[in-house]
Amino acid sequence: MARAKVYFNEQNCKGCELCVASCPKKLLRLSERINNQGYHPAELTDEEKCTGCGLCAVMCPDVAIAVEREVRA
Ligand code: SF4
Ligand code: SF4
Repeated sequence: MARAKVYFNEQNCKGCELCVASCPKKLLRLSERINNQGYHPAELTDEEKCTGCGLCAVMCPDVAIAVEREVRA
């Protein structure tokens, strides 16, 4: 089961790829889709491998990513 959930606000994304470069697991890429601003928004390739480190969310200058980490008792 995935340890974290990554949420994207696709319409805010400018396709700068800072998150892509920041992910230690190389789990992010730009999608084929085009958002309202004309950019290819970032997407997660493999949720299962995401550690929930939050680096992608911290790096995004447009606050287009939120990471929710699962807390286990
Ligand atoms: S939370 Fe960490 S591991 Fe998950 S996609 Fe973002 S940078 Fe990669
Ligand atoms: S850092 Fe933010 S704006 Fe840049 S590609 Fe990633 S989600 Fe989009």
